[in-house]
Amino acid sequence: MPVRFKAVRKTGRMVSRRLIRRNSTAAMRFAEAFSRYPALAGLMGTVIALSMAVLSFAALWQGRAQALQNAHHAAANLVATLSADIARNVESSDLSLRTIARGVENPAVMALPPDLRKLVLFDGATGMSSVGGAFVMNREGRIVVERDPSEHSDLLFNDREYFRVHADHPDAGLFISGPYVSRLRQGAASLAMSRRIDAPDGSFAGVAVIALNVSYFKNLLSHVSVGQSGSVFIVQQDGVMIARKPALPSDEASNVARSPTFAAMKNAPSGSYISRSPLDGVRRLYTFQHVPGTQLIAAVAPAEDDVLAAWRERSVIIGGLTLMFGGCFIVVSWLLAISLRSRAIAQEKLQRLAGTDSLTGLSNRRALDRRLDEEWRRARRADQPLSALFVDVDHFKLYNDTYGHAMGDDALIAVADCIQNAAKRPGDIVARYGGEEFVVVLPGAAASGALTFAERLRSNVEALAIPNSAAARGVLTISIGIATASPRQSDDALKLLNSADAALYLAKRTGRNRAIHEDSVGSGGV
Ligand code: GH3
Ligand code: MG
Ligand code: MG
Repeated sequence: MPVRFKAVRKTGRMVSRRLIRRNSTAAMRFAEAFSRYPALAGLMGTVIALSMAVLSFAALWQGRAQALQNAHHAAANLVATLSADIARNVESSDLSLRTIARGVENPAVMALPPDLRKLVLFDGATGMSSVGGAFVMNREGRIVVERDPSEHSDLLFNDREYFRVHADHPDAGLFISGPYVSRLRQGAASLAMSRRIDAPDGSFAGVAVIALNVSYFKNLLSHVSVGQSGSVFIVQQDGVMIARKPALPSDEASNVARSPTFAAMKNAPSGSYISRSPLDGVRRLYTFQHVPGTQLIAAVAPAEDDVLAAWRERSVIIGGLTLMFGGCFIVVSWLLAISLRSRAIAQEKLQRLAGTDSLTGLSNRRALDRRLDEEWRRARRADQPLSALFVDVDHFKLYNDTYGHAMGDDALIAVADCIQNAAKRPGDIVARYGGEEFVVVLPGAAASGALTFAERLRSNVEALAIPNSAAARGVLTISIGIATASPRQSDDALKLLNSADAALYLAKRTGRNRAIHEDSVGSGGV
């Protein structure tokens, strides 16, 4: 067991090490990408912050829809309760109306003594608080029987809408009138529920009426809570407002038939919509339902501002924090990008300086080694020749001795510029090898091309005509050793430089101010 345990541990460690290595190389590559493209950090930060903001705002928007939906559900429940209450009252009043109508049509009932007749005609339901009175009217519109005694002997009700409807339409059934001012009960606002009474021959014999108090509807609505600016109301299908909470300020507004929002309510059995109230300009969520068996519509309309108040408060906090943190994240990402960029620039500058000779501005030995290696490998891939020139200023020690070190420096700068100007192709390398020695690498140049180049360089330096009394021609000259290699066949770049150095040695020995190719050793140069 211990052996197996050990083995497992060993494998686990190996795997985790491999994983760490893989992760670290991926992380390094990631970090390298950032240092190479600093704007990536800013862009990624911006994209992440924007995505988070979009997600956050989408969630908030969904919260708004949820708040509206919850309000709609609550309103639908309220409307259903209101509607059921009204329907139950109307139904029980209708049952009472049927009892009255049947009783009046029955001669035996009408022959009973008044007290007994009342007991038979008006059942318990007519005593409900919602019922203001119950009456029987004859065909002239005079009250002949009533639940409660009142002063009515000289009153005629044949002008009432319900009376005319039943007189003219035998099949009107239950009729619920619009609100009116009672003539019997100190002007109490009422609705009449009525049924026709037929004579034995089927002709119109009168009307059975139950007066519903409008205060019943008001009382019903007073128990409904619809927030600060919400409204709840019961309206007739013809637009006559029966009751509303809060109560309407003027009488003109008591008919909403012409309101554009009412049309939607009128034509559907139930539904909901959001609209601005034409009565008070408040945007509300209307949920309505037609009360079954009646011309009444019950509606609950909480104000959108009330419904969304909590959501808005939450949104301002969350949205504000999202924008603040998102903004900070973007700013920090771009600050990081800017600092990465300035670091990259500084690093590049440092790298350039590390590979530059301070006196001449040419590449130094370190840069030469790196670039020669690159060009060598490129020439090997392309199977092309590569030539190297070793350039050495003639009798420079004597020049220094004669004109001083400062003049020597100037002369070296002039020679360096001259070499730099001669090597114009993109891959050409010009480097100060050390002291008064320079190396030129010409990728793609064969021996003859390199020799031509070297000769032109030599004559260009000579043409600078920098006075050098120590030299045979009286001006500063250079000697050049040239070597050419085909990197596919040759060993390495070092050997190429050594060969060029050997050719330079020969150029010096054979009189200086000349260019000699390693292949033409013995020819004495050009
Ligand atoms: P030869 O023709 O054989 O090349 O003779 P030479 O005198 O040029 O060669 P030598 O190697 O004897 O002397 C090179 C001189 O170059 C010695 C040194 O003072 C001078 N030198 C090297 N670097 C610098 C430099 O940066 N500035 C100056 N002014 N002189 C330098
Ligand atoms: Mg030298
Ligand atoms: Mg020299």
